Amino acid sequence: MKGNKNQGGESVANEGAKVSRIVGNITHELKTPLHSMLALAQLLLSEADGPLNDEQKKQVRMIVRNGDELLDLITHLLNYSNLESGSQRAQFEKFSPKVFLTELAATFHPIAQRKGIVFEGNFERVVGDVVSDRRLIRQCVSNLVSNSLKFSSSGSTLSLFGATLHDGSLLVEVADGGIGIPPEAQQEIFQEFYQVESGEGRRYGGVGLGLALVKSALEHLSGTLELRSESGRGTLFRVTIPSLPERVRKRRILIWNTDASVELALSECFRSAGYDFRTVGLGERVESVAAEFRPELILLDLSHGGEESRRALLELRGSNWGGAIPVIAMSTSDQVGDRAKAFEGGASDYLVKPFDLRELLARVKTQLSKGSDALSA
Ligand code: ADP
Repeated sequence: MKGNKNQGGESVANEGAKVSRIVGNITHELKTPLHSMLALAQLLLSEADGPLNDEQKKQVRMIVRNGDELLDLITHLLNYSNLESGSQRAQFEKFSPKVFLTELAATFHPIAQRKGIVFEGNFERVVGDVVSDRRLIRQCVSNLVSNSLKFSSSGSTLSLFGATLHDGSLLVEVADGGIGIPPEAQQEIFQEFYQVESGEGRRYGGVGLGLALVKSALEHLSGTLELRSESGRGTLFRVTIPSLPERVRKRRILIWNTDASVELALSECFRSAGYDFRTVGLGERVESVAAEFRPELILLDLSHGGEESRRALLELRGSNWGGAIPVIAMSTSDQVGDRAKAFEGGASDYLVKPFDLRELLARVKTQLSKGSDALSA
């Protein structure tokens, strides 16, 4: 839930993010013991340590079923709180949606088969690549397909259709012939914990977080969602996810104060890895370059320029513009004292020269994923 820009709105949003973070931490801690309880119950069912009588088997199966449901709830809560607290940010990359949807559909085939539902995947009209967040799209589509499977009965057809639109957006439709959603509930179902059929007589599993998660994930993806449904006749969810333009996807790196040969190697490396970058020397006005380029990460060479480069790091950390930008310090020194000084000065990471460019790219990726999200670029 996004807060208003006014002070009251911001504090409500901050509170919300705090609660989401707490929920996220608790649910994460709950998962570990639950996994081991379920593994032990499965071990009992396998009768590896001796046979169970029929009643005992029934009871252990009930433990597994309820445990699975609880795990499902915890996973939903964790995903949802991660999205809402901002700790899960969209990670944009280029990928083939056709391959992605084909693989995703394959995971649902066995479940549909077990329920006697005819599952049809049609991705012929999906072409090329898309730039978006695969993990968030998977959460959206998986939740919609899981719901369709849950609210449909044997003999009905579930169709997962994909297409690439003229502007490169990805269209995904999930259509089922299930119980449908009454018109008066079609807005409400996107609220947390809302379920059309609730209370004692409820026949379906779930906790009512799936669609809230879909909605939140689509906000992060700048996507849209349409719903058409008729009670007793089935439901269609249509999702459209834009492919982000190149300009938004490229992350910006400032290479600060290094010698010509390193600068050349780094430039080549970042160019081929698809980053946008600028180089700036120690004596140059870094603030004005940064104001125009708005770097998301800075690479600072501490072994070039001696004390002055360390002072530059301290100044950067104390400044309005560079206080929060991750800085990877580079140096020829592997001395513990020099590393410590760099971290004390505010470096986020430290690389000893000469380094492998693959290691550099991995560290850049880690720092960027901790930093701001490409959507806000
Ligand atoms: P959950 O499925 O865990 O109950 P969701 O947030 O995913 O929670 O969905 C909320 C409610 O919306 C469901 O409980 C159900 O009443 C309704 N719903 C969602 N998808 C469908 C569908 N495909 N067919 C019928 N009802 C649906």
